[in-house]
This record gives sequence, structure tokens and C-alpha cells, in this order.
Amino acid sequence: MSDCIFCQIIAGDIPSTKVYEDDEFLAFEDVSPEAPVHTLIVPKKHYHSLNDDIPADVLGRLYKLVPYVAELKGVHDSGYRTVANTGDDANQTVHHLHVHIIGGKQLSEHSS
Ligand code: 5GP
Ligand code: ZN
Repeated sequence: MSDCIFCQIIAGDIPSTKVYEDDEFLAFEDVSPEAPVHTLIVPKKHYHSLNDDIPADVLGRLYKLVPYVAELKGVHDSGYRTVANTGDDANQTVHHLHVHIIGGKQLSEHSS
């Protein structure tokens, strides 16, 4: 989608700091990190959110990447939080499915 920020990052039209890339997924640093580690993983194919009709195998491969990217970022063993904001009440601001990996410090007990 040409008006989607993350599609433009995937296309290389908007610069990003890449953490991991393969044919299907890209991980890159969040531009406004909330913690020492704040990395986003996105499928290269545009899905709006978890509410979209996403094949289970795509979701499986996406979430299998989470601990791998956490390892690359050095928080695999110390711990991290994964967040997939969905819709208005969750304040989803970019409507391209993405998983936040947040860590590198002691996080608050709850994320509400
Ligand atoms: P959401 O609130 O939709 O779950 O999260 C969107 C995230 O994308 C936010 O944490 C925001 O900082 C990040 N973001 C928005 N625009 C850009 C951008 O142009 N580049 C990067 N690297 N991150 C972005
Ligand atoms: Zn997109």
C-alpha cells in the first residue's frame, strides 16, 4: 500500500535501521523507542492488524521470529515484552501488522 509508512520502509523509500530481514519479514528499530530495546517486526505483505485475515502459518513464522530477534538484540535471556496493538482503543497508529519487542530494562508490571 503506497500510503502505508511500513510498506514504504519495506520498499526502502523511507530509511530505517534494519535488525533482520528475509524474504517475508523485516525487523527494524522503532523511531521513538520506549526502552533501550524497541524493535518492530513486520511481514512484508501488508496486513492491517491481527484482525486481518492472516494465514496461521504467516502468524506462526512471525512469532517464531520474536525470540530470534530478541537474541539479536541481546534481550533473549533478560526478558522482553511483545505487543501487537490492534485498533483504536489500543492506540494502533500504523495500520500495518507489527509486533513490538520492548526490553533492555525492568518494564512496568502491567501494560494497560
Ligand atoms: P503502534 O502504536 O501502531 O503499535 O506502533 C507504531 C510504532 O511505529 C510506534 O512505536 C512508532 O514510534 C513507530 N513508527 C512510526 N513511524 C515510524 C517510522 O517512520 N519509522 C520507524 N522506524 N518507526 C516508526
Ligand atoms: Zn503496509
